[in-house]
Amino acid sequence: MLGIGLVGLGTIARAQHLPAIAATDGLHLAAIASRNAALEGTPCYQNIDALLQAEPDIAAISLCTPPQGRFDQAMAALHAGRHLMLEKPPGATLSEVEALQAEATARGLTLFATWHSREAAAVDSARDWLVGKTLRSVTIDWREDVRKWHPGQEWIWAAGGLGVFDPGINALSILTKLVAGVILVSADLHIPQGRATPIAADLHLRAGNVPITAGFDWRLDHDEIWRISLTTDQGTLLLDDGGARATIDGTPLIAGENHEYARLYARFRDLIATRQSEVDLAPLRLVADAFLTGTHHPTAPFQS
Ligand code: NAP
Repeated sequence: MLGIGLVGLGTIARAQHLPAIAATDGLHLAAIASRNAALEGTPCYQNIDALLQAEPDIAAISLCTPPQGRFDQAMAALHAGRHLMLEKPPGATLSEVEALQAEATARGLTLFATWHSREAAAVDSARDWLVGKTLRSVTIDWREDVRKWHPGQEWIWAAGGLGVFDPGINALSILTKLVAGVILVSADLHIPQGRATPIAADLHLRAGNVPITAGFDWRLDHDEIWRISLTTDQGTLLLDDGGARATIDGTPLIAGENHEYARLYARFRDLIATRQSEVDLAPLRLVADAFLTGTHHPTAPFQS
């Protein structure tokens, strides 16, 4: 049994990581590190350094903390000889993740930079359906209510917290799984006064001659829209609900229950067994490009 040390017992750790670890053969939750929380029946430590020191037999660490500050935690895990799984985004910067990659490789450890939306129920079927078809255009609509999905999370508004790209990068992770060679053309970033990250972003991208637009917005006051529309020479594929549902010209291709995190943990277990790593920086690179080249538009202050 592979023991997992889970670091950062916040929203996603409780909602997805704990049940996924419990449901995955060959894994068990061995300890947590949390500044504030405890789990009955599980050894709990104040921080990752204390966990690593007290639990030399825990072979793997899963980081569920915000991207800012995650680098030092990740390096500590690798220096202690532990395999490492990272929540998305894998870091606050590209160079951080490249340094982690080099360290993991040098030590023969597994580094798994996860993109949970790539594991949504319809994404693989969508990719299979696109084979042999000519893509004409792609439109992404990723809109939700930040107060519903990120209540009280101050880190998303601080530098390195990504703002609306925190959900938007999920769309980009699916896009870059389905379409090769995506580059950013331009970006408009709508940033509330007094905040460091955007509340909305409009992107123009392309893959070869295929135009791609993406609208990310956190100001929606009704049900969320997480949709990617791919128009081809043989029909239009709609991926809805963050990749859980696919239709072709209105006819269902597949709809299923999402088991995103169970798939991630099974993959982590298998990567460790074969001493491989999996790190794809394409989604984070597009976000970094948007921050590098984007035009800033100040918008109304945001009160959480
Ligand atoms: P969250 O609810 O704010 O939880 C993050 C946890 O990390 C906190 O509860 C805290 O746990 C720990 N932490 C350590 N240093 C921190 C700091 N400086 N500021 C705030 N928290 C700190 O965030 P989350 O939504 O779980 O997101 C964590 C990561 O998962 C992010 O990278 C996010 O993009 C990703 N993610 C989130 C979702 C989602 O729907 N929320 C979905 C998929 C992926 P302790 O108090 O236990 O130390």
